[in-house]
Amino acid sequence: METKIVPFPMTAAAKPRLAQFVRIGEAHKKLADLHASGRLPADRVVVDASRLRHQRELIEALQDDGAEIVLDTEVAELAAPSKVGGHSRHAPWASAGDGGLVGPEQFEADAASDVIGQIARFAVSSRIDTVLAPTHYLGDPSVTDWSVVDARACALLREALDREGGQHIAIDYPIIAPHTQLNSDAFRGGLMRMIVDLPVENVWVRASGLGSDAGPLTMKRYLSAMAGLHNMGKPVIADQLGGLPGLVAMAFGAASGVAQGIGERERFDARAWYQPPPPRNEDGFGRAVRIGIPGLGKSATIKELELLVSARGGRKLVACGDRRCCPHGLKDMIDDPRRHAAYQAFSSVRALEDVPHLSRERYLLNGPIAEADRLARGIKQLKPSESEAALHEIDLSKLMKRFHDHSRKVEKLRTTLERIHENRSDETPRARPVAPRRSNSQEEGENRK
Ligand SMILES: [Zn+2]
Repeated sequence: METKIVPFPMTAAAKPRLAQFVRIGEAHKKLADLHASGRLPADRVVVDASRLRHQRELIEALQDDGAEIVLDTEVAELAAPSKVGGHSRHAPWASAGDGGLVGPEQFEADAASDVIGQIARFAVSSRIDTVLAPTHYLGDPSVTDWSVVDARACALLREALDREGGQHIAIDYPIIAPHTQLNSDAFRGGLMRMIVDLPVENVWVRASGLGSDAGPLTMKRYLSAMAGLHNMGKPVIADQLGGLPGLVAMAFGAASGVAQGIGERERFDARAWYQPPPPRNEDGFGRAVRIGIPGLGKSATIKELELLVSARGGRKLVACGDRRCCPHGLKDMIDDPRRHAAYQAFSSVRALEDVPHLSRERYLLNGPIAEADRLARGIKQLKPSESEAALHEIDLSKLMKRFHDHSRKVEKLRTTLERIHENRSDETPRARPVAPRRSNSQEEGENRK
C-alpha cells in the first residue's frame, strides 16, 4: 500500500472524542453494581460470546442507557491449544471442532458447522450493535495463513448478517498479532491491502506482549506501527491496552481509542496460548488481586501496598488521594479495587479528551507522564522495614528492584516521548475519531463541556 496521508478536517481547538470500550470480562457482577450506582459511565462495551448468557441483565441495562454493545466471538481463543478448554468453550460455536480446536476449515463458505451463520444469528438475537470479525492470532505457529482465512470470513460474516436480519450491525476488524510483527512494514502492508476493502468500520489492534512495562523503544515502534495503519482511512482502536501506554497511544494520535477491562485485560499476551494449558482457573480464584497505584502506571498486591504505606512517606505516594474515587484512601482501594480501577480508567481518558487534540502530547508529558515519573522516583526511595516485609511474606529487595526498574523505564519513556513530540509538527496525521453507532452518542465529535 502506498504511503499516503488521509487527512480529516479538524480545527486546532477541536477536542475529538476518544473511544473507550470497556471489556466486561469476568467481573460482570461487580460491574453491574458499579453501573447501578452510576460509577460505570461506559458508552461502549465489549462482551464475550461465552459470557453473554450470564451477563444479559447488565447488557440490557447498558443498552437502555444507549451504550454500544460489541461482541467478541472468541474464535481466536478457540483456535489456541491452551485456551480452547478455558471459558471460551462456552461460546455457542465452540463445539464446531468436535470439542477441539476450531480450525480454518470451519470458516469456509460451505462449512457444515456454519460458524459464521451461527455468529450472525447470535448477534441478531442478542441485539448486538457491532461484531468483532472472527479473526485469529497471527503469531499462531501451526496456521500460517489465518489472515487470508480471516479476511474471507469477514466478508462472509457481512453476507450472513445481512441475510439474517442484521443489516444494521456493524463489523470491526481485530488484528491480533505479536507487537514485534506489527513493526514490519511488509506485514502491515499485506494486512492493510486485505482489510481496506472489507466492510468494516474500525480496526482494532491487540498487540501481544505490549503492556505497562513496555520500554521506550517498544512504545516508539508501537506508535509508528499504529500510525502506519492510518493509511487505511479507518479509526484504530488499541485493544487490551490500559494505563499509561493506552493514554500515550491516544495522546500521540496513534489510536482513536482503547478497549480495556476494569482491573483486568489491560494488556495482552498470547505467548502462553501455544503451551500446555494451565490447570483450569476460570473463576479467577487463587489469583492475587492487583490494584493500580494511582498515576504510577503500575499495580501491586494488597500485601505489597500495605508494606509500602508502612514506610515513612509511603502513604501519600501509593494510596489513592482522590476523594471522589476513594474517600478513605487505601482502605477503599483495598475494599473495592474495581471501583477504584473504574474511576481511574474513566477519569484519565476524560481528562485527556478535555484537551484540544494538538495539545494532548504536551498535556500527557507535563501531566500524567511527569506525575508517574515523580511517583516512581519517590516509591523506589521508600524504606519499608525488613521485619514488616517478613510479616507480609514479601521479598523486600525483589519488590524494591521492581520499583527501581519501573522508575528507570518511566524516565526513559518520558525522554523518548519528549523527543518524539519535539520532532513532530501540527500537521502530523492523527487517528481519525470513531464514528458514533448508537443514538445516545450523537454528541460524538463535538466538544465536551
Ligand atoms: Zn481510588
